[in-house]
Amino acid sequence: MENHFGFNLDNSYSRLPASFFSYLDPTPVPAPEAVCINDKLATSLGLDGQALRQDDGVAILAGNQNPPGGVPLAQAYAGHQFGHFTMLGDGRAILIGEQVTPSGQRYDLQLKGSGRTPYSRGGDGKSTLGPMLREYIISEAMYALKIPTTRSLAVVTTGEKIQRETLLPGAVLTRVAASHLRVGTFQYVAGRGSEKELRLLADYAIERHFPGAKAETNWYIRFLKEVIDAQASLVAQWMLVGFVHGVMNTDNMAISGETIDYGPCAFMDTFDPSTVFSSIDHHGRYAYANQPTIAAWNLARLAESLLPLLDPDPETAREIGQHEVERFASSYDRYYLDGMRRKLGLKKSEQADKDLVRDLLQLMYEHKADYTNTFLDLTFEGSSQGVLGQSPDFIQWKKRWKERCGQNEGGWEEAQELMKTGNPAVIPRNHRVEEALRGAVQSSDYAPLRKLLRILEHPFAHTPEQREFAKPPDPSALPYRTFCGT
Ligand code: AMP
Ligand code: MG
Repeated sequence: MENHFGFNLDNSYSRLPASFFSYLDPTPVPAPEAVCINDKLATSLGLDGQALRQDDGVAILAGNQNPPGGVPLAQAYAGHQFGHFTMLGDGRAILIGEQVTPSGQRYDLQLKGSGRTPYSRGGDGKSTLGPMLREYIISEAMYALKIPTTRSLAVVTTGEKIQRETLLPGAVLTRVAASHLRVGTFQYVAGRGSEKELRLLADYAIERHFPGAKAETNWYIRFLKEVIDAQASLVAQWMLVGFVHGVMNTDNMAISGETIDYGPCAFMDTFDPSTVFSSIDHHGRYAYANQPTIAAWNLARLAESLLPLLDPDPETAREIGQHEVERFASSYDRYYLDGMRRKLGLKKSEQADKDLVRDLLQLMYEHKADYTNTFLDLTFEGSSQGVLGQSPDFIQWKKRWKERCGQNEGGWEEAQELMKTGNPAVIPRNHRVEEALRGAVQSSDYAPLRKLLRILEHPFAHTPEQREFAKPPDPSALPYRTFCGT
């Protein structure tokens, strides 16, 4: 096939042991149509968005045709789901190749919703339009928020109706990721009991994500440290924007440190540490405030999987693993507090900053304040809406904070400039996401979706147009619930 799309594919994963994956083609679909093509992302990958919109491009994005040079496969992995260990694997996703970009970076291109695989268990291997557009919106919003994430290159509809609670339009998302290696990939390979295979996987992950680690004598310890650090930074960034991932199973934690698997995730409106959106998270395991603890728990599962590589002596290996995982907490605290300083316009660090943050969050919680907008009000010296603004304790707190800002060399102005870079003007508010999805799914009206994508593209621009989208939902629309979208 002629390659006018710009595909420059390699298939390094297929050179790993055969037990790590299964070769198979995506399942053909009857009538594919492109609904979203991410031109900017395409360009950065060396692909031509216009070419991908043509019939032969859409055929590739729908799985009806393999891209030139791509060798499609489904990856095997395991994972702890809500704490329980299970064999999983790509049940409805197929890696179609690794795009090597003009600047030499390598990205997995994966079709999600492209049919059954040997790992599908009871599922149909399909996806529906709403959840795929939701992933497109939120992953791209995360990227715009400068948070590491997998990205969305395209959503195409398939012309099929998929049976869920009702019949829904089928769709395929093209996901772009630094890789799809997960904590669960290591659990899967470790469980097979072959140290040789484990070493191959770890070497592969190091080569792809942390090549600098090879300078160390034991580069597997370095690798573990790097993954822990990347996750501490990632989860701190989620917490700083009020993001609740919703399904932090070990198979949904990427080794690269990218946010992956946009199922039941959502952004918090009113500040409440116990916020849970997912309809299946009955015990709040993945509640907002639990995310750092869960991340550390997942990383302990990674450390366990790596034990044979950390040291030949099992006891020493365990000590090394435990020591590294224990460092997650301090690393996370540092990232979080640094981020909060930016949100509060504090240029230098001070011992008392932690208390300043804690007291603000406590007041926000007590007065049911909107998380994102409280920081925006502080940034632009607006009077905080609702009861928080009237609270004498909050007025006192603001005085304390302003004094602290005064310690910047550039005073308040410097604080404000910093805050504009730390406090987004907009997040993908749940009611806005729902509105956009409703238009697209129920009436093929893509105008609200396109507008939302445009508004979310520059969250730190602070334009007047964004204000309407910064408003919290009508309280009658709450509580908001999300579903896994399988
Ligand atoms: P997730 O909740 O998206 O992380 O999915 C958990 C596991 O279920 C993964 O192995 C998925 O590939 C698989 N899965 C989810 N939905 C489907 C589906 N409709 N058909 C087959 N497998 C699925
Ligand atoms: Mg998953």
